[in-house]
Amino acid sequence: MVIIMEKRASEEQVRQVVAYAQGMGLKAHVLGTEDRTVIVLIGNTHQVKVSHMPGVSGVVTIPYSFKLASRQFHSQPTMVTIGDVVVGGGKPIVIAGPCAVENRDQILESAYQVKAAGAHMLRGGAFKPRSSPYSFQGLGEEGLKLLDEARRQTGLKIVSEVVDPVNLSMICEYVDVLQVGSRNMQNFHLLRELGRTNKPILLKRGMSATIEEWLMSAEYILSAGNSNVILCERGIRTFEKYTRNTLDLNAIPVVKDLSHLPVIVDPSHGVGIARYVPAMSMAALAAGADGLIIEVHPRPNEAASDGQQSLTPQEFAQLMHRLQGMMAQFTNT
Ligand code: PEP
Ligand code: MN
Repeated sequence: MVIIMEKRASEEQVRQVVAYAQGMGLKAHVLGTEDRTVIVLIGNTHQVKVSHMPGVSGVVTIPYSFKLASRQFHSQPTMVTIGDVVVGGGKPIVIAGPCAVENRDQILESAYQVKAAGAHMLRGGAFKPRSSPYSFQGLGEEGLKLLDEARRQTGLKIVSEVVDPVNLSMICEYVDVLQVGSRNMQNFHLLRELGRTNKPILLKRGMSATIEEWLMSAEYILSAGNSNVILCERGIRTFEKYTRNTLDLNAIPVVKDLSHLPVIVDPSHGVGIARYVPAMSMAALAAGADGLIIEVHPRPNEAASDGQQSLTPQEFAQLMHRLQGMMAQFTNT
């Protein structure tokens, strides 16, 4: 439920409505829109009666189950700032690096090469959620230390996945952006814990999740108090077998209509085959994505995970060149 205050409502009147809602066990988020204050109530609002309260102009029941993620009462796009990188500010950003951190040379080489090609942040998994328990699971904290060294040497901010709330506070000491993987999009316990941190969250779409379910997962993080959420479309499972997933580019304009949160695209997992990654990267930016996250490995055929979809540094540099040309064309027209 959203309570719309009168244009001239006083701070005291807003405080009274919030106190009333909290007294009923609800969470109240106060948002300032262009010309008035609105109060978003989270919880069971069936018994709420506020129309008569001083300063209240009206009450709206939101048709979607995601309220804080909705654009309805938050028309301005959210910008997530990570150091000097802004996601959602109108200029697409690129995150690049290997699927997993494997050793010091590999991650440092990757970091220097993606930086030279123009990437804005470095990715690398230290905790890997693998389909098989026998596959490489990542270097854990050792991998995070190597990412930290790569950041110190190159200045690139770090994006890395968290799979378990147990080591969340330890991971927070190393990374700039916490990635939630596709397999964990509906790990609600993890999402709530992430909502209590102040780190930007990269929330990947579950491989079988609808857009609404994905936005509901964002809602878990937002409603727990963290407003720095970046959505990431990474392909969904369909009947198609020539590609690893089907990159749902429909999701970009649809989510941008429904939500104020920035949306980036992962063409590497979306298509799963390196030679198709450039085309899907360009398509994602043409569709309005706020950025890309791309797997790059110095020697893809030796990669411990996802080598088949990883670009070489040279291929990545060529792609960045094409993307920059494409973006310049967009801004010239
Ligand atoms: C990854 O980014 O390497 C990864 C495991 O992605 P996803 O969760 O989208 O499969
Ligand atoms: Mn991967």
